[in-house]
Amino acid sequence: MTLVKTPPPLSQEVDLSKTYDAVIVGSGAAGGMAAHVLTEQGMDVLMLEAGKKLPIEQELRSMQWPYDHPRRGEAPPGYHSLSFNEYTIRTPPYAKGSTFKHVMSYVGGWGGSDYVKNILVDEKDHPYTGTKYAWVRARALGGKTNIWGRLALRLSDYDFKGKTHDGYGEDWPISYADIQPYYDKVDLYLGISGVKENLPHLPDSLFQRPNKLSAGEVKLRESLKKMGRVLTPYRAGVTTDGLKHNRYRSKCYGRGACDRRPGGCDIHAAFDSPTGLIYPAMDTGHLTLRTNSIAHEVLVDPNTGKARGVGFVDSATRKSYEAKAKVVIVAASTLESARLLLLSRSAQHPNGIGNSSGHVGHNFCEHVMGPGVTGLVKDLVGKPPTLDDGRPGGFYIPRFRNLKERQPGFVRGYGFEGSGGFSIFPGNAFGTQGFGAQFKKEVRDHAGAFIGMGGFGEVLARYENYVDLDPQEKDAWGIPTLRFHYQFGDNEKKMCEDMVVAGREMLEEAGIEVVGADDKMLTEGWSIHELGTARMGNDPKTSVLNQFQQSHDVKNLFVVDGSSHVSASCQNPTWTIMALAWRSCEYLAGEFKKGNL
Ligand SMILES: Cc1cc2nc3c(=O)[nH]c(=O)nc-3n(C[C@H](O)[C@H](O)[C@H](O)COP(=O)(O)OP(=O)(O)OC[C@H]3O[C@@H](n4cnc5c(N)ncnc54)[C@H](O)[C@@H]3O)c2cc1C
Ligand code: SF4
Repeated sequence: MTLVKTPPPLSQEVDLSKTYDAVIVGSGAAGGMAAHVLTEQGMDVLMLEAGKKLPIEQELRSMQWPYDHPRRGEAPPGYHSLSFNEYTIRTPPYAKGSTFKHVMSYVGGWGGSDYVKNILVDEKDHPYTGTKYAWVRARALGGKTNIWGRLALRLSDYDFKGKTHDGYGEDWPISYADIQPYYDKVDLYLGISGVKENLPHLPDSLFQRPNKLSAGEVKLRESLKKMGRVLTPYRAGVTTDGLKHNRYRSKCYGRGACDRRPGGCDIHAAFDSPTGLIYPAMDTGHLTLRTNSIAHEVLVDPNTGKARGVGFVDSATRKSYEAKAKVVIVAASTLESARLLLLSRSAQHPNGIGNSSGHVGHNFCEHVMGPGVTGLVKDLVGKPPTLDDGRPGGFYIPRFRNLKERQPGFVRGYGFEGSGGFSIFPGNAFGTQGFGAQFKKEVRDHAGAFIGMGGFGEVLARYENYVDLDPQEKDAWGIPTLRFHYQFGDNEKKMCEDMVVAGREMLEEAGIEVVGADDKMLTEGWSIHELGTARMGNDPKTSVLNQFQQSHDVKNLFVVDGSSHVSASCQNPTWTIMALAWRSCEYLAGEFKKGNL
């Protein structure tokens, strides 16, 4: 087996006396895509990333078996991952007063905190206040793409034109036809695996080889066809056939680590922003990268009101600097981008840059999750083991509510993520009665016969769900933190009730015994799909950005991450974030060349 192991570009000298064509804040999916597109267009770009550049392969160690690790993957003493109860019973800042030296978000508790302890932020240094919210942040080169779950889905006109369809909220200023060519570009440049299904509400990508479904999943897929529903192999942002144009990534060898860790792929078959976008952009000679650089202000030219660069603090030395640029691109992730805009107050922009509408921080939306079902496929009990977790994901059941019919109780919809079959540890062992040889046989016989799935539903965008700056609380670098004013509403609650009913119905219809049903909604934030705090729109009074993610107020300011989303849809957002960023940055480069910025 030959794995691609090309070292990343060497670190460069950063010349802060120079005025760059563009400065990008953030190096995740959005910032990485901006760097790729702008450097391809020949622009001279500086990227500021708050986190470190980690030796990421040593962090992820995708092939390490639990017994090869001194603590079976757990972080050393002194680390603590927040639990559901802590998020629910207590109020932020969650790490305040904790006796643990380091506190991580709940993702650290997924069985492998040692692999993510340097990727996730330490909540002690990064507090936030307000209503309860499980905010997962990764401060490292590549951001959350280092550990994302890689379910890579497109949105459709059911999402872009949601208001036209059901009367709720606002339509996006674009339709599927506008973004479709950019989804295609993302597919081809980064690689995605899946199966074409020809669904109007979940458009197909340009797929590479799909993951194989396990026996239980095939059984459910066949049964769902009769109900007019679809179970499709996990559409993974993973290259399964390889990418000839990228020397930093290997194709997926199905080694199973995807299912064993909080995420990450040390051969970069799964997309991550550094190997997928940033290193290739550095190879053009047009990208300069500065890590450990926490942006705290978009700087403004007092004469023109235009952005002139970014003020930042070095996270290690705590020294302050300015980066000068003709265009500023904010891509710090939905909530951090809103925070940066709100922090950037000046005489010209007293409510924060780009915020004449007062909508920055508002219309905050995401996905609700928690409810799900588990089934036992009886005819698989006692069957010989198969390698079912040697793949980047299980399956996806796209939205089926409120497409043609109207569902009583709620608008919009939800999809299910799930998987079935053998995994590294037989989860059923905990619930199995008995001991000794009979217990072991019982566990082994049933290990591959379970199938489980959980819903991900659209949280409606509402003006009254928002974030602002806390007047008192500051992070470890003295920068004001975010304060949440956010909670799920009745629509989300009704949708979650329906997830359990529909999930149960689907398993039963397939002849799969329902052995577990969970109706618990997880805390706000749990989906890690925050969106919509600087939404796009045609009206500068009710939106922050135009259809090219360009500020209505400041023409050389662009915000290219999920904050621009008008509604959350129920599909995972990252592929859309990148397609939109590609489209906007192509427009940006065109305007830049014409001297319009
Ligand atoms: C465990 C997990 C599973 C996920 N699964 C999926 C999935 O299956 N499908 C899906 O579509 N999405 C998934 N996501 C979400 C996905 O990772 C995000 O949608 C995506 O990474 C967003 O890209 P981004 O560039 O906006 O933000 P990020 O990837 O978070 O990158 C933002 C970057 O900006 C930096 N930054 C922040 N503030 C500043 C500042 N002030 N100055 C300088 N830099 C700053 C951060 O350090 C970070 O590197 C998952 C996320 C996690 C954590
Ligand atoms: S299964 Fe594929 S994508 Fe997942 S960690 Fe292994 S090689 Fe990477």
